[in-house]
Amino acid sequence: MTTYQAFHRRSIDQRDEFWAEQARLIHWNKPAEQICDFSRPPFVKWFKGGETNLCYNAVDRHAAKRPDARALIYISTETGEETIYSYAELQREVERMAAIYQDLGVGKGDRVLIYMPMIPQACFAILACARIGAIHSVVFGGFAAGSLATRIDDARPKLMVSADAGMRNGKPVPYKHLVDEACKLAEFPPQKVLIVDRGLDKGFPRVAGRDVDYAEQRVKHLDAKVPVTWVESSEPSYILYTSGTTGKPKGVQRDTGGYCVALAASMQHIYTGGEGETMFTTSDIGWVVGHSYIIYAPLIAGMATIMYEGTPLRPDAGIWWSIVEKYKVSVMFSAPTAVRVLKKQDPAFLKKYDLSSLKHLFLAGEPLDQPTHEWIMGELGIPVIDNYWQTETGWPMLAAVRGVEKTPIKFGSPSFPVYGYDLRIFREDGSECGAGEKGIVGVVPPLPPGCLSTVWGQDERFVSTYFSLFTNPVVYSSSDWGIKDEQGYHTILGRMDDVINVAGHRLGTREIEEAVQGHNAIAEVAVVGVHDELKGQMPMAFAVVKDAGRIDSAEKRAALEKEVMKTVDDSLGAIARPARIHFISGLPKTRSGKMLRRSIQALAEGRDPGDLTTIDDPSTLDQIRAALAG
Ligand code: ATP
Ligand code: MG
Repeated sequence: MTTYQAFHRRSIDQRDEFWAEQARLIHWNKPAEQICDFSRPPFVKWFKGGETNLCYNAVDRHAAKRPDARALIYISTETGEETIYSYAELQREVERMAAIYQDLGVGKGDRVLIYMPMIPQACFAILACARIGAIHSVVFGGFAAGSLATRIDDARPKLMVSADAGMRNGKPVPYKHLVDEACKLAEFPPQKVLIVDRGLDKGFPRVAGRDVDYAEQRVKHLDAKVPVTWVESSEPSYILYTSGTTGKPKGVQRDTGGYCVALAASMQHIYTGGEGETMFTTSDIGWVVGHSYIIYAPLIAGMATIMYEGTPLRPDAGIWWSIVEKYKVSVMFSAPTAVRVLKKQDPAFLKKYDLSSLKHLFLAGEPLDQPTHEWIMGELGIPVIDNYWQTETGWPMLAAVRGVEKTPIKFGSPSFPVYGYDLRIFREDGSECGAGEKGIVGVVPPLPPGCLSTVWGQDERFVSTYFSLFTNPVVYSSSDWGIKDEQGYHTILGRMDDVINVAGHRLGTREIEEAVQGHNAIAEVAVVGVHDELKGQMPMAFAVVKDAGRIDSAEKRAALEKEVMKTVDDSLGAIARPARIHFISGLPKTRSGKMLRRSIQALAEGRDPGDLTTIDDPSTLDQIRAALAG
């Protein structure tokens, strides 16, 4: 058994002892009476009876010891702002925000819906909730009024915090406008709306008696002292909706103590970052990666965290790396989709900057195909670690846990189950798959600390959505499809919904996508299963090429299509060969960067693309329609 395997084993076999040790990484106002209460499965309460506070752990305890240390580094390539907040300054701003909340009648257990661009006030707004025991629900800025209204009605916030506008690609994007519209659509709109006026949308309308100006309030509370409210470990800290890739988003409810411990432990064992170091997570606060690894975890670990408003390509594809150089980033966290975007750019941008501070690059959110994994690790010359998890879990389920020992990285694999997760691959009847056998990814409960406690206000939906795949044994599953090899390395093959059944052979979309990516002309690809009279289903591919010159004539397109098919034949066999490979210039994704395969598949089968409220660029669907028609 390797050192890591033993570590993992202990986290399962001596669960309470293991987590009691991890719990020492954070501050408790009152220690837990019971480490794990699993008396009402599948519900679990971690560190029952313990009292803590996320804001105290993320801010106060560092501000007391190292007031001048960097806490929040704000960079906007949209407005040109660059501001650094020390821990002492961050605490002051959070206390001011918390005082405003209290003035507006917000207290423990009340919901605050945060609909904000990537600005420092969003970070203050989140931490201020944690400080007073209010429950935040951050909704990705950029969701349309309808999506916002649905989330308002589900969370029923007392207060909403927003801004006049965001900025994307140099253009203002209205926020306040959408807030007004959403409040009209909602059945349970908030009583108060706090607005950060960035001066980007001059003269936006204000609703008398409801809208409150942040700057005006802030000056009233410059010297505010707001003590932290200690909360019982299993009390909710936030609600966050899943990405909606497979349909209607679920309101994930997170606890307080378990989450705090899970994040603190993950910084030590997985992300390996500590005091004096800087973390750069290129996500958005509207997603789980942003909650955990832009805001909470790096601060809990006493690091400086970078909050970046901008795209990966402006002013040029070197922007992220210039930030790494300037702030000596040691831990970086991004998404495979972003790396595939960079792959289409000039690799010289990666060589232009001094990246010697960087220890690891972590990628999560979607399958990281082997060619992309190999490419980015080769370019950077540091370990690139794929980690697999979900909004539901809040922190990784599969990863190369290199803080325990230097787990060798295998390209295309997020490696091993993370400590705390008894993760296995199951057959549809509930029995366990052998090595090399495809199946459903499941976790034997209890879920470890940090994972969702329930679906907000819908305990029944929690059980039926996540614990009802089979009854013996009862396992947690969000229906991903995966495989484990002889050495125990895992590969996520896609979602069960995306499995393609070709003449009785079950193929994960990811396997075929990976094979297509194996052709060096391809930057990115989506494969979907399309109904076929003869074979049941046939794979169909939509690919983006690195160099448009490869497809600028009908002959070249046909030639490349043949070549790519051959690549698939060679690596997976003719059974996996796509019926067609359509070349387009962009793929439909959610705002969080996930491929909308269900919409692509629907179009390919001549159906309606379904719920598109979370789509990033709707014009990509027109390209698919055109490709299918042509
Ligand atoms: P919804 O649940 O609303 O349909 P979603 O599943 O896309 O949306 P998220 O919680 O943002 O919502 O995404 C989690 C999913 O993303 C995982 O279940 C998995 O399918 C995929 N995923 C995340 N990280 C990885 C990874 N490293 N490798 C493969 N797949 C990943
Ligand atoms: Mg999901």
